[in-house]
Amino acid sequence: MFNKFIAAILPYFPKKFIWIFSRSYISGETIDDAMRVSKDLNSKNIKVTLDVLGEFIKTLDEAESNKKEYLNLIDISYKNHIDGNFSLKPTSFGLLLDKEICHKHIREIVAKTATYNGFIRIDMEDSPCTDDEIVLFRKLKSEFPANVGLVVQAYLRRTLKDLEQMMDLNSLTIPVNYRLCKGIYVEPESIAFKKYEEINRHYLEDLEFMFRNKIRVGIATHDKPLVEGAYNLIRKYNVPKDMYEFQMLYGVTPRLCENIVNEGHTMRVYVPFGKQWFGYSTRRLKENPKMASHIIKAIFYKG
Ligand SMILES: Cc1cc2nc3c(=O)[nH]c(=O)nc-3n(C[C@H](O)[C@H](O)[C@H](O)COP(=O)(O)OP(=O)(O)OC[C@H]3O[C@@H](n4cnc5c(N)ncnc54)[C@H](O)[C@@H]3O)c2cc1C
Repeated sequence: MFNKFIAAILPYFPKKFIWIFSRSYISGETIDDAMRVSKDLNSKNIKVTLDVLGEFIKTLDEAESNKKEYLNLIDISYKNHIDGNFSLKPTSFGLLLDKEICHKHIREIVAKTATYNGFIRIDMEDSPCTDDEIVLFRKLKSEFPANVGLVVQAYLRRTLKDLEQMMDLNSLTIPVNYRLCKGIYVEPESIAFKKYEEINRHYLEDLEFMFRNKIRVGIATHDKPLVEGAYNLIRKYNVPKDMYEFQMLYGVTPRLCENIVNEGHTMRVYVPFGKQWFGYSTRRLKENPKMASHIIKAIFYKG
């Protein structure tokens, strides 16, 4: 209760205060910060996916400037020889304002990445965006088959059906590439599983569907039982190393991350950075209110 209460009121605290918590989840405000953290992770045999923070914009000018920021990030990241790819949120490029413009911006980013043989992951946002993000992915995938992938959320009741319907995109030469996560947004029970056990069961069903159908997957979770479940499925289907990787968020469960790397699996860490760290941080807090008491401790017991 206490943790939940603190998590609910923290967003109203001064930004400086929230930063004390946020700095362990966010690489910093600038590209230099993102490069420094990425190089450090790379040196530990961990790949990255870089994300410029920001979503749900209000004007198309913001979409344009977000696109420029990504184009710049891509060049700088390759100049720095970062072992990584990029993740983006379509609402940052105007998905909810103008779908055509959003497609145009993201297309430009994917095209730029393709010149480096790179890869863009389209993050999945809340349920009003699901259909549009699948349509966007379909369009981009047909033009850039090897350079774009999508996220799917195991908590959505529709996901297995979506996976079946997108099977036409899969091929042995260029498998479709998903990130499978539980899903982070608050959704109604009519469309989303709510119970931990239900979500986990559905997660492993989705993952098994992917392995059975030779789909490439980023197994994005910090949940130990799911990691164990994934290990079992990898063994059961004898999945080659180039067909899966584990993925985690920067700063979350670093010990489990290290164990997975030590077991010889590929690991990729999601490295967010940017000036808009405040919204990202408060969402993380709501997701895991237990963190609130850690922050309070860090603040009051510092030193
Ligand atoms: C690489 C990556 C990309 C993602 N992309 C998306 C996306 O595009 N769309 C989307 O909806 N969601 C995305 N998510 C978030 C995801 O949907 C989950 O909300 C989040 O990963 C928590 O689920 P979990 O599988 O770790 O399991 P949980 O059961 O939530 O967590 C398992 C354990 O991990 C630890 N933990 C989990 N989260 C935190 C945290 N924030 N702080 C501290 N400890 C924590 C706790 O110890 C917890 O007990 C992404 C997650 C990852 C790892």
